[in-house]
Amino acid sequence: MPHILVTNDDGIQAPGLRALVEALRELATLTVVAPASERSAAAQSLTLRQPVYYEEIAEREYAVEGTPADAVILALHKLLPDKPDLVISGINRGGNIGENVYYSGTVGAAKEAAIHGVPAVAISLAYRRPECDFAPAAQFMKSLASVILREGLPAGVPLNVNVPQDWSGEVRFTRQSRKITRNVLQPGADGNGRPYFLLSEQQLTEGIEPDTDYAAIRAAAVSITPLELDVTHTQSLNHLSHWAAILKRNSLEP
Ligand code: MN
Repeated sequence: MPHILVTNDDGIQAPGLRALVEALRELATLTVVAPASERSAAAQSLTLRQPVYYEEIAEREYAVEGTPADAVILALHKLLPDKPDLVISGINRGGNIGENVYYSGTVGAAKEAAIHGVPAVAISLAYRRPECDFAPAAQFMKSLASVILREGLPAGVPLNVNVPQDWSGEVRFTRQSRKITRNVLQPGADGNGRPYFLLSEQQLTEGIEPDTDYAAIRAAAVSITPLELDVTHTQSLNHLSHWAAILKRNSLEP
């Protein structure tokens, strides 16, 4: 039986992770290693210079007092007996599309696994409501996992999957949108008069490019974006490299 590591950024008790575990149970042996509490928007950050506590809270389930990337590192280096066949991060409550891919702890965990050479998927429900139904996304992830276990993934290419609220049944392979939100900064001041801003965001409704994750979600399709870990912009590398001669330190000058 294949072995799947399940993690997330909403915390080990989050309903999205539980729905995923339920759906994947018959497909694979599962180990859950996930943050003990919610660490959304942790991206791929690590906990350094302080201990990362962990606890076995059930059979093959470990709660980690750290970030999603910490959890994956503990799992792959210490907690799992062997390298898993697949790492699945989610199901996140709230979409991870456009620039949110940069901030997402759900995606951060999948990227960490991909860096370690393990096929990885981040999966998110592209809406957040009190009555989130994770079951359709969990069933979708089960079908996708069996395809990946059979066919594999390109090395170092994690998939970022988003499932819309009322899925039409359509699946689109997409690219990441450019910034899809407007930053909203609400000014305020505390009791001592210290000024602050409260940050939130507003989703844009115009300028959505048709082949993107955001367009797929708005069309009620599941969006799958293959991500690249190497963020080098090769075109600019070629275009800018002649600057090296200008910037080179001249050994004759002081
Ligand atoms: Mn989250």
